[in-house]
Amino acid sequence: MKEIRVTVKTNFVDKMRDGAPLILPYMLVNPELVKKEGDLLYIQDERGRFVARGYVGFQNKGIGWVLANLPKEKIDAEWFKKTINAAISRRKPLLNEKHTNAYRVFNGSGDGIGGLTIDYYDGFYLVQWYSKGIYKFRDTIVNILKKRKPVRGVYHKKRFGDGGSYIEESAFILGEYPEWPLVVKQNDINYPVYLDDGAMTGVFLDQRHVRKTLKDKYSKGKTVLNTFSYTGAFSAAALLGGAEMTTSVDLANRSLERTREMFAVNDIDPDTQEIIVEDVFVYMQRAIRSGKTFDTIVLDPPSFARSKKHTFAAEKDYAKLVKDAMALLNEKGVLIASTNCAKFDMAKFTQMVGEGIRKTGDQFRILESFQLPEDFPPHPLEKESNYLKVIVAKRR
Ligand code: SAH
Repeated sequence: MKEIRVTVKTNFVDKMRDGAPLILPYMLVNPELVKKEGDLLYIQDERGRFVARGYVGFQNKGIGWVLANLPKEKIDAEWFKKTINAAISRRKPLLNEKHTNAYRVFNGSGDGIGGLTIDYYDGFYLVQWYSKGIYKFRDTIVNILKKRKPVRGVYHKKRFGDGGSYIEESAFILGEYPEWPLVVKQNDINYPVYLDDGAMTGVFLDQRHVRKTLKDKYSKGKTVLNTFSYTGAFSAAALLGGAEMTTSVDLANRSLERTREMFAVNDIDPDTQEIIVEDVFVYMQRAIRSGKTFDTIVLDPPSFARSKKHTFAAEKDYAKLVKDAMALLNEKGVLIASTNCAKFDMAKFTQMVGEGIRKTGDQFRILESFQLPEDFPPHPLEKESNYLKVIVAKRR
């Protein structure tokens, strides 16, 4: 395939040679040449020497991604095959795991191709394209997955156009069309998933270790409040760990049915649990007034949320959320605070959670913390790719 030759400014050469994956317009002498999604780029320095190869893909992050830093490494179907198969091979310990059959097999820049993720759901691959540019390689990539064993089917989601939220109607590409939901598991917690319906599948695969920890250490005999509960995955984990009672709170109407379904596939009677469709901020104020408390509280808000009464932005409002949660936490209770906001790092998040707890007059102790699991490797030179931060804390 023909390559477009572009020149990287001297200031950015070293970083790009070191492997920094993201291409931003201001890094180039001639960004006007970068206009057609899916074009391959040959990137040279101001003296014409080779620096890297990449492709054009417009995302809110940048205008393309570096793919290779060795002059003889050509980007073709063979290169995609080698790169994707290598990433899947690195998941070998998970491939052979009896208790888990859903995980990420390709994580964007962290596995060598920015703008592309591939998840595995018990025989089904779900590909997510983050730009028109990477979507141009659809046939090449699907061909690679088709040949892997065991493959029951390939599904996809386009995450470009309409501000990144556009999802086309049918997500089916090839293979079986099972009856939905497909039930997959992580650490023997069952999750009903829909690969062919909307932006999200029903489970966030990156919380695997956190849910296991909740189940194994912070649930037995406990009352658990799960805020921003979505389909109730944390609640199911807590109940399988022996929780006495769970309360799941989410604003979305669909969360009620989906949480009931989550319980049912884990042999839990949905009628025994509290599932509340309400704005978490409203719920918390009401619970505080009524003097309700819990042994374990999970906070997992979106980075940004707007409801009728509230706007929540993690970077500004997380400390306040923690402060309110502390009012609902028993004396010896445990708080599990999570965020997927890429705008700040673990150090800052720790400070924010600490600030929230200290506002209540208490000191706190971190019991443990989590970042992305091994199947979601971030790229060391793209700090936004290391988005997940989870802190387990209690009062001192
Ligand atoms: N903790 C979940 C994922 C949360 S996704 C899990 O592990 O599966 C974020 C959820 O927050 C969405 O389901 C959304 O409906 C919900 N949400 C956003 N703003 C909210 C609010 N103000 N009150 C309650 N839920 C809210």
